[in-house]
Amino acid sequence: MLTSRKQQLAVRALNYDLFENAQIGISKQAILPKEQAGALPSTETLEHLFNRFNFLYFDGKLSHPVIEYSNRMTCAGSYTPVKNLIKISRKYHNIFPDEIEDTLKHEMIHIIHFNHNAAFKAEANRIGASLKAKTHPSLRRQPKYLYVCPSCGLEYPRKKKVRMSSCGDCSRRGRFDPDFKLKLAKSFAAGREISYA
Ligand SMILES: [Zn+2]
Ligand SMILES: [Zn+2]
Repeated sequence: MLTSRKQQLAVRALNYDLFENAQIGISKQAILPKEQAGALPSTETLEHLFNRFNFLYFDGKLSHPVIEYSNRMTCAGSYTPVKNLIKISRKYHNIFPDEIEDTLKHEMIHIIHFNHNAAFKAEANRIGASLKAKTHPSLRRQPKYLYVCPSCGLEYPRKKKVRMSSCGDCSRRGRFDPDFKLKLAKSFAAGREISYA
């Protein structure tokens, strides 16, 4: 399914995100009581939903991903191809609980279309999933862009896109050094997380 070189490169970039969320285990959630009033649906329920949407909209052809909650993510959801993993944000859906089916549908499209391109939009239209997540003041702390030094891996969260910036630690003589030009690793466009190679 990962056909283009761009997608294959993107897969590598996504690895990082998994470490970030490694402490959120599925086993933990399995011990919790199911479906308390006002609580978010269990991951088991999300899997049932996935199967329903898969059958309804995709002829059951999507490969079954791991679906888990993220306690840290401030965007609505994300999809990580290398692990076939859909993450659903608790923070976001505690604020917008009615959006959870929409988020799941959105992330399901990412199984076949990595970026929010025209093909993605056509699918979103077809199955009634939205492109943009909602915003709320408490979700706005996240920077819009995350840049990374290609050499030492230091992260540079930025509110705006940067073009000619290099790593402060690696650059020689304290000025712009093209050998250590920062690379865009992630953007958080419209409340959705996209990762880059
Ligand atoms: Zn560096
Ligand atoms: Zn998306």
